[in-house]
Amino acid sequence: MNDLLLRGGRPGGGAPADVLIKDGCIASIAPSIDANGAEVEELAGRLILPAFVDAHCHLDKTLWGGPWVPNTSGTELVQMIENGRARRAEFGIPNEDHVTALLEQMVTRGTSYVRTHTDIDPEIGLTGVEAVLAAAAQLKGKVTVEQVAFPQCGLLIKPGTAELMEEALKAGVGTVGGLDPAGVDRDAVGHLDIVFGLADKHGARVDIHLHDRGSLGAWEFELIIERTKALGLQGRVVISHALAIGEVDGDQQDRLAEALAEAGVGLTTCAIYSDPVPPVVKLLNAGANVALGNDGIRDLWSPYGNGDMLERAMHLAYRSYFRTAEDIEVALEAATYGGARALGLVSYGLREGASADLVTVDARTPAEAVMARPTRSLVLKSGRVVARDGALC
Ligand SMILES: [Zn+2]
Repeated sequence: MNDLLLRGGRPGGGAPADVLIKDGCIASIAPSIDANGAEVEELAGRLILPAFVDAHCHLDKTLWGGPWVPNTSGTELVQMIENGRARRAEFGIPNEDHVTALLEQMVTRGTSYVRTHTDIDPEIGLTGVEAVLAAAAQLKGKVTVEQVAFPQCGLLIKPGTAELMEEALKAGVGTVGGLDPAGVDRDAVGHLDIVFGLADKHGARVDIHLHDRGSLGAWEFELIIERTKALGLQGRVVISHALAIGEVDGDQQDRLAEALAEAGVGLTTCAIYSDPVPPVVKLLNAGANVALGNDGIRDLWSPYGNGDMLERAMHLAYRSYFRTAEDIEVALEAATYGGARALGLVSYGLREGASADLVTVDARTPAEAVMARPTRSLVLKSGRVVARDGALC
């Protein structure tokens, strides 16, 4: 691979600098670097950001690239679960072509890493896992896709699901999921013991959907924290959505934030609809991680979404009442470094030595990029240009 010089961009919105990329990694960032035979991309003052991390989505469910499907789901969680389950066969879900089309869209919007929760249940088996694997293979070298073995229809209430999730872990899926241990499965302890048992046995990470609200949800936070510490899984466990911490009182938020930080349990929010949003600044100040994801995109659950993490960062900023540049950058950080920490990426970032996964946009500052969401002029994956001016290369 030829060396590549990004000339005259502004890394992170700072002073103009050149970025030299060698062997897929950022070799140096300096005010002026001699091209010395490298290919050159003139950035003319454009902003350079680390490529985005979508830390929570549902690729297997998407209808992206297919005909528009009017939403027929009710608004309660159980209604959405049942609607998605009952109608998926009618639309041929999961569909490798739809997943591929959505991944392409994500790449053109600057996303380089994706964690996707894939439905597993006795009816659908591992077909979702296989469809996502096949689509990810088509986009190899352009985006990295990590799957979560996800019991969307419940775990204890759907006998046979745990065994299939274990099969997925054995087949290489690296993260075990869970879903409202109390609200959906009606047995928080039993549910979490299975999830953490699988993680312990297979060396998997954990990412649990937790929509349960108020004191019930807060109690489940404690159960997750307790198991994380007992099994030494610090830094490998995420609570997704985590609605409860967004609505308990300030003192309880403080206690939970400290406990999450101490246990190395991170949160991933999608800032969707009017659901409570975790107190991002409070969590970061306590030392807990916050990541961001799109959740469902154009599927039987929701007609919304376009895979754009800058747009999702805008939603998080808006829902968090962020208006200063400093605060808006906090929302963007959830879409970059926060996501990288959630996924355990070690060579991520806009720094020398990191993998050259970068995005450039015509904006002066990160806050402007979130508000204006300009076309991504360049998207780089491991030092290679994979999208240019909003189109896949
Ligand atoms: Zn989800």
